[in-house]
Amino acid sequence: MNINTETAEDNSFAQFPLQSKILQAIDELGYETPSAIQKQTIPILLEGKDLVGQAQTGTGKTAAFSLPMLEQINPKSKKVQALILTPTRELAIQVAEAVHSYAKHLGKVKILPVYGGQSISQQIRHLKKGVQIVVGTPGRVMDHLRRETTDISDLKMMILDEADEMLRMGFIEDVEWILSHTPETRQTALFSATMPKQIRRIAEKYLTNPVDIHIKQKTLTVPAIEQYFINLSARNKTDALTKLLEIWSTPDEAILIFLRTKLDTERLTNKLQARGYAAETLNGDMNQTQRENVIKRLKSKRIEIVVATDVAARGLDVEHITTVINYDMPSDTESYVHRIGRTGRAGRKGKTVLFVTQRQRRMMRDIEHYTKQKIEKLNLPTQADVIEKRSERLKDKIKQTLQTQDLELYQELIIELIEEEKLDILDLAAAATYLSASDKKLEVVKTPQKMNFSFSEEGMVQLFINVGRKHRVSPGDIVGAIANEGDISGKAIGAIDVNETYTLVDVPQQYVEQILLNMRKSRVRKRNMNIRIASDFETNKSSNHKSLTKKKKRRRKPKRRKNKSPGPFDKFMKRKRRKK
Ligand code: AMP
Repeated sequence: MNINTETAEDNSFAQFPLQSKILQAIDELGYETPSAIQKQTIPILLEGKDLVGQAQTGTGKTAAFSLPMLEQINPKSKKVQALILTPTRELAIQVAEAVHSYAKHLGKVKILPVYGGQSISQQIRHLKKGVQIVVGTPGRVMDHLRRETTDISDLKMMILDEADEMLRMGFIEDVEWILSHTPETRQTALFSATMPKQIRRIAEKYLTNPVDIHIKQKTLTVPAIEQYFINLSARNKTDALTKLLEIWSTPDEAILIFLRTKLDTERLTNKLQARGYAAETLNGDMNQTQRENVIKRLKSKRIEIVVATDVAARGLDVEHITTVINYDMPSDTESYVHRIGRTGRAGRKGKTVLFVTQRQRRMMRDIEHYTKQKIEKLNLPTQADVIEKRSERLKDKIKQTLQTQDLELYQELIIELIEEEKLDILDLAAAATYLSASDKKLEVVKTPQKMNFSFSEEGMVQLFINVGRKHRVSPGDIVGAIANEGDISGKAIGAIDVNETYTLVDVPQQYVEQILLNMRKSRVRKRNMNIRIASDFETNKSSNHKSLTKKKKRRRKPKRRKNKSPGPFDKFMKRKRRKK
């Protein structure tokens, strides 16, 4: 069987001398193998050397510097031991969350994101209690250092994340100021997607004999298949996938979906199975026999969708895989080429889609650059497309049933119904079709078209706020407002989705009431905020915003023709009656 036979030990995180508590957290997060940047960076940072890494978002660089960093942290000391500078509040929060998840089993390691827009007194309170890792934007970090509200005299490690972005945003002088106020004994790592002169100069001035890491991307030959991408936000991926599957899935063609972690492959498989798809997981947690069984079932068309991680699907050779969906961005160009090579086998046609969030656009351009092929934009199927496809499928199903099944018993049942209940033949046919549509009904107006609601994580509730990009609101503003005025920790706030005219934000269920109460009169960007539970829109509970929900269209019943001449059905009925 043509699947990867590599054992987990060959290429797992266990190759690094990291403590078992960190490895355990990595395993629980579902990471199978270290990404290219992690493979090269982790050993160097563990040796205590300085490093300049050319890498961008999506390559796994956060874990690349965080794991060796956590290895050095002494949880018993309450002083700041590591400082990570990021260009934006959003990235500071994201990185802090990631480090927090890697430190899960390390006991009391405190990680604090600090950024402008959030109350400084609250940050000072946290800092006073003792924080070992600070993740912040340059301006706010500088503020704390000037006020001496944080003591970095014991700083062991300093990370400059997305240095070119900090340069572009005009923070580079602040960065230099901070660097010059940190102890010289610190270890420093600088990450940047590009290496402009000013960044090189900083590396030369402030880093000591840094090792240069640049993941060399080969120009790769890509199979001749259609390549597409879809722009979306992370929270809309499942919805987008469902729509694509509605349009593309057929019993004769298999679809392969790629995700980054084992855990996520399992979660997504469960969701798809719940929606009636014959989907199964293929990941590194499964032994060889289990994997081979999945492939057997795929080959014999008992499964239509496989949800896989990169390692598990390497070498997978199944002719009727016609579609590869990159649900998560691959960690590098090579993975992308491996992934899409699973389709278009044996000279067949194939297509592939890449889900791209705003922050991942650069990564996609890299892929295009190294494969020397353009990835075409694909618009998500609309609700109308989905309905049209469902109608087509229903018609085919009915036509096929008429051709292949003996329906006499069913005809008799219908005749009985007509005679007993005086029912109309069109109504009866419609009811029967409705039943055969099972959960793929033709009237789907579930979510308001204007708003992309999605399901929040367990224990979280999605809130709607009436301000968005149009009002120049950033995720940081939202975090700041909810954290300060709602009086909850910024870390507790979940996914934030800033749209054109509104924002959706996930918050822990237990704080909802408090947030709604405290924020009744809050303002953001000089606008009064209207904040409420997002699902209230879906159930039409909200009176103020009814206009945002789409009104269901009432279908008019088609008028029946009266006094029509007898059709084939009437003749059939007459014959039956005569027989009796
Ligand atoms: P980053 O480039 O650090 O922003 O990471 C991008 C995404 O990849 C994040 O969602 C990480 O959780 C995930 N990730 C990082 N390293 C790995 C890995 N070795 N295996 C699977 N997922 C990873």
